[in-house]
Amino acid sequence: MAGLVVSQHRRTCGDVESPVTVTSQEDIILTVNAIAATSATEPLVRSTVERRDVGPHDVLIEIRYAGICHSDIHTVRGEWGEVPYPLTVGHEIVGRVAEVGGDATLHAVGDRVGVGCMVNSCRECENCRAGQEQYCLKGNTQTYAGVDRDGTVTQGGYSTHVVVDQDFVLRVPDAIPYEAAAPLLCAGVTTYSPLTHWNAGPGKKVAVVGMGGLGHMAVKIAAALGAEVTVLSQTLGKKDDGLAFGAEHYHATGDPATFEALKNSFDLIVNTVSAPIDMACYLGLLRLDGTLVSVGAPPEPLPVPVFALFGNRRSFAGSNIGGIAETQEMLDFCAERGIAPQVEVIDADAVNEAYERVLGSDVRYRFVIDIDTLRG
Ligand SMILES: [Zn+2]
Ligand SMILES: [Zn+2]
Repeated sequence: MAGLVVSQHRRTCGDVESPVTVTSQEDIILTVNAIAATSATEPLVRSTVERRDVGPHDVLIEIRYAGICHSDIHTVRGEWGEVPYPLTVGHEIVGRVAEVGGDATLHAVGDRVGVGCMVNSCRECENCRAGQEQYCLKGNTQTYAGVDRDGTVTQGGYSTHVVVDQDFVLRVPDAIPYEAAAPLLCAGVTTYSPLTHWNAGPGKKVAVVGMGGLGHMAVKIAAALGAEVTVLSQTLGKKDDGLAFGAEHYHATGDPATFEALKNSFDLIVNTVSAPIDMACYLGLLRLDGTLVSVGAPPEPLPVPVFALFGNRRSFAGSNIGGIAETQEMLDFCAERGIAPQVEVIDADAVNEAYERVLGSDVRYRFVIDIDTLRG
């Protein structure tokens, strides 16, 4: 509906700081400041995006911070398929509620809230009914580059405002600073979900492969759950950080002796690396009934030697973000345990430089855009 209205009904709220009030019943499009990709090869530029009118079940969020996820870069560069340019990415979104629809009761104006990787799902399939909306059998609606229920292409969080159905809006506890909360919406739940599903906890030995945005959160969460955590990173360059985040052991995967020394050791290995790994080597690290779960996604298929699965009755699995209830549980858990990502806050105009640094693994450990620098 909102996508069809004429321009005189638009309003601009890129510089709005206070709650927005809508009195008209007409459809109104919000035109808000954003950063957009215009092609796979051009740098991101300042732009605007249009947000639909706040529907009865919607929440208008004034965005304060947006995290930069590696998926954003893969997407804008066309590495994960065709892209509906111009596109605004960003699925680690936090801010405060600026307006709620007439039938929206879950959030109030002024609340601290967040939005992660999805903004809708069918709500009827067995997976949705089980609270696993991320595995919606009809496909969940991605926060950007997805097609929402009104037929419009979704635009992500590198912008000043977003309109989202209240059921896909999370409560951000007061104990978590806004900027640190942002990466929890993707990196946090992406690691929390497999760690809890495969029962990381006291008495369990968990290895985390990779010490980037996802990996550092996996270490913090696994340690908070009570597991004995080992980091497997290419080098020992981030060892001090890993131990400070809660790991008890830290090994370099660049050293072949690591795989010999740690054979048959782990109940669970969480692989956060998007590059191909030697599956025989990593599966060999699992003890009886151990599982290697991948949350990193290499572009090419991985050859899995089945004989490596036979030994110790091992499993190889994948996991994709988390459900809405689970994401809320993760936020509450992090608030209670005082866990937060380590972030580097940047201005909106530094996004392109930040992308290059992410690709060079030169960030400790997540870039977060200060969206106030997009206003005005
Ligand atoms: Zn992400
Ligand atoms: Zn569904």
